[in-house]
Amino acid sequence: MSVLNLRSLAEDDDNYIEGVYNYCNRWCERCPFTARCLNYAIGQEQFPDEESRDLNNEAFWQGLHDVFAQTKALLVQMAQERGVDLEALDTPESRAVWQAREAELEKQIESSPLHSAAEAYRQMVDGWFKESEDDFRAKGDELTMLTRLGVAGLDPEAIAISLADAVEVIRWYQLFIGVKLMRAISGAIDEEDDDPEMLAEFGRDSDGSAKIALIAIDHSIGAWGVLLAAFSDRETETLTILAHLDRLRRATEREFPRARAFVRAGWDTGEAA
Ligand code: SF4
Repeated sequence: MSVLNLRSLAEDDDNYIEGVYNYCNRWCERCPFTARCLNYAIGQEQFPDEESRDLNNEAFWQGLHDVFAQTKALLVQMAQERGVDLEALDTPESRAVWQAREAELEKQIESSPLHSAAEAYRQMVDGWFKESEDDFRAKGDELTMLTRLGVAGLDPEAIAISLADAVEVIRWYQLFIGVKLMRAISGAIDEEDDDPEMLAEFGRDSDGSAKIALIAIDHSIGAWGVLLAAFSDRETETLTILAHLDRLRRATEREFPRARAFVRAGWDTGEAA
């Protein structure tokens, strides 16, 4: 099924929640809305099996090529429906203006303290895991021994699962936080020229992006709490990361004071998954 067909399917099908994928955490394997997400349906259609999701496989790149081609066709069709001539908009002058704007935007993002704090966090996480390899090995041995001993009231398997989950959560959001904060910062700059009434009615993309970044920070803080309790030898380093994340969380809330109240389709509107 092509993207064009999926689009008409989405228009006809109330099952899909419009925009549910706009401010999600992209963690489809853990998402309760897969059956109601058009983005997920398109992904499954284009990349149905392991082979087509493998970056080293030709099927992946062919699938990606198809997605781009179909998205372009969809864009052209939507422009035609609205009487917009895309060719006429694409001139050397308009490209130069766009490039200059992008360069300025990049400069502003890079000078943002949120951006540097998110990048610092990314590096701190890598450092922490690198320096904790022996601790994880020792913890594995300890849990194996406890399983063998069968200590009453202690569930080593549950501890191992909770540790693995904490690591997965931290790794999932490690880059995500910075990416979403960058989008929030660039969105806020773009919105400077937008109609305030329209922004009030439809919400600001910058707030939606900041909200999902904040959620990612919250979940990461929770996951670091699990590691803090499990690895007492790494307490100082873990607390340093937690303090850094907490500062980043508070700085994001200051920069985007409306973000927590932003209403995300599906997630904050009470639709059934
Ligand atoms: S809403 Fe859920 S299924 Fe859709 S893209 Fe986001 S995480 Fe994946």
